Amino acid sequence: MPRLLLVSNRLPVTVKVEKDSVAVVRSAGGLATGLRRPHERSGGQWIGWPGDMSRLSESQRTRVEEQFAEQRYVPIHLTASEVSRYYEGYSNRVLWPLCHYMLDRIPRQDRDWEVYRKVNERFADLTAKQYQPGDTIWVHDYQLMLVPGMLRERLPEARIGYFHHIPFPSSEIFRTLPRREALLKGLLGADLIGFHTVSYVRHFSGSLLRQLSLDTDVDSIMWQGRQVRVGAFPMGIDSDSFDSLAKEVSVLEEVASLRRTAEGQRILLGIDRLDYTKGIPRRLLAVQRLLEREPAWRGRLRFIQVAVPSRTQVEAYATYREQVNELVGRINGQYGSVQNVPVHYLYRSFNEKQLAGLYRAADVMLVTPVRDGMNLVAKEFCASRPDEDGVLVLSELAGAADELNKALTVNPYDVESTADAIEQALEMGEHERRERMRALRAQVKAHDVHWWVSHFLGRLQGLPSVSVRD
Ligand code: UDP
Repeated sequence: MPRLLLVSNRLPVTVKVEKDSVAVVRSAGGLATGLRRPHERSGGQWIGWPGDMSRLSESQRTRVEEQFAEQRYVPIHLTASEVSRYYEGYSNRVLWPLCHYMLDRIPRQDRDWEVYRKVNERFADLTAKQYQPGDTIWVHDYQLMLVPGMLRERLPEARIGYFHHIPFPSSEIFRTLPRREALLKGLLGADLIGFHTVSYVRHFSGSLLRQLSLDTDVDSIMWQGRQVRVGAFPMGIDSDSFDSLAKEVSVLEEVASLRRTAEGQRILLGIDRLDYTKGIPRRLLAVQRLLEREPAWRGRLRFIQVAVPSRTQVEAYATYREQVNELVGRINGQYGSVQNVPVHYLYRSFNEKQLAGLYRAADVMLVTPVRDGMNLVAKEFCASRPDEDGVLVLSELAGAADELNKALTVNPYDVESTADAIEQALEMGEHERRERMRALRAQVKAHDVHWWVSHFLGRLQGLPSVSVRD
């Protein structure tokens, strides 16, 4: 197996400081879990930002650096200004809303590009320094779109893959970006560019044609004498892990206790980062609409919405948070009583075990983002239902909808139809619920995160070693 150099904005670890002790803790989450095994097996390096380490003492820092070296993590330290301009600025204020079709959220001034470019250059420099002939390099996500091109200049012979974890928008959206050409050329430094869905591949090809006049075949493009491949590789989750968590005794006790406190009620569940792409306000309005038009459900629904604090330094997120708070208050004021409120809103995060309990306790899972590259929560819900019950209501604008076609799909902008789908889910008979959930689980299990990693790497490493055509 060739050595793998993984390059991502964050390293898959968090540095935890408690009084005098300091520990390097593994992160949970799909990407970290899926790539951990190939990282360990290939004996390669993982290059990324370890988070803020500026408050560590000299000796703590040394201890952390030692642990990084042992686990073959290569940290890139970012200054506070780089975090604010490369990460929060260009990545999260410009590229994130752009790729999610939200042009009006992008600042009018393009101030952070230069810092984005420079930080990408630092990632490329450090990766090139680690490189040995024969290595495979795999760059991840929109924070590092220039890195493949920068690496190609430094390492003409290297085998380079890139995966885009968020949507790639229609060329009509992408063309509005002042730096559109530089970003496309950056990606074209790779040998293989992966997206979650076939639509994103098509959108990318459309942008290449419009911005760079490049004609693309279904899955390849000639660029500077090299053949660049593109493809859809839908990311999966660690489904075995959720499946077994959902069978643990302590989790089942938690499920029973949740169901007891909601006795006589049906549980609707939403789990999202508090992000304006997740469609939380319209989802709340759909629940409100259902209560308004069907008095029989009043007092009989418990909608648990988990909203994980996210990107709190970006203003748009603070405004969005207020909007959600206000809506929750309004609905609970209107349909709540002294004993009971319809919306249980939790602005906090949970670990995987707690999530498995919530997933397993739910009658209906509401995943209704207004735009989402994939959405792993939808898949985690299915994996956490070994009882083969529960209904998934899923936005057709989430990448996951391409695969999970036994979910009830909705247009998340259509509040009335979303209310219809919630009602249909609540009224669905057991036979249909089980039939749908069995099919969903089979899909999630067959295409888990390990399948995704080997599918992408298999394709990348199987490409002819000299991809230059005469
Ligand atoms: N998640 C978590 N704790 C929470 C809520 C969510 O660890 O309290 C995890 C969840 O298990 C999932 C990820 O966060 O793996 C969210 O991924 P998704 O693709 O749904 O959305 P993203 O946040 O990446 O946009």
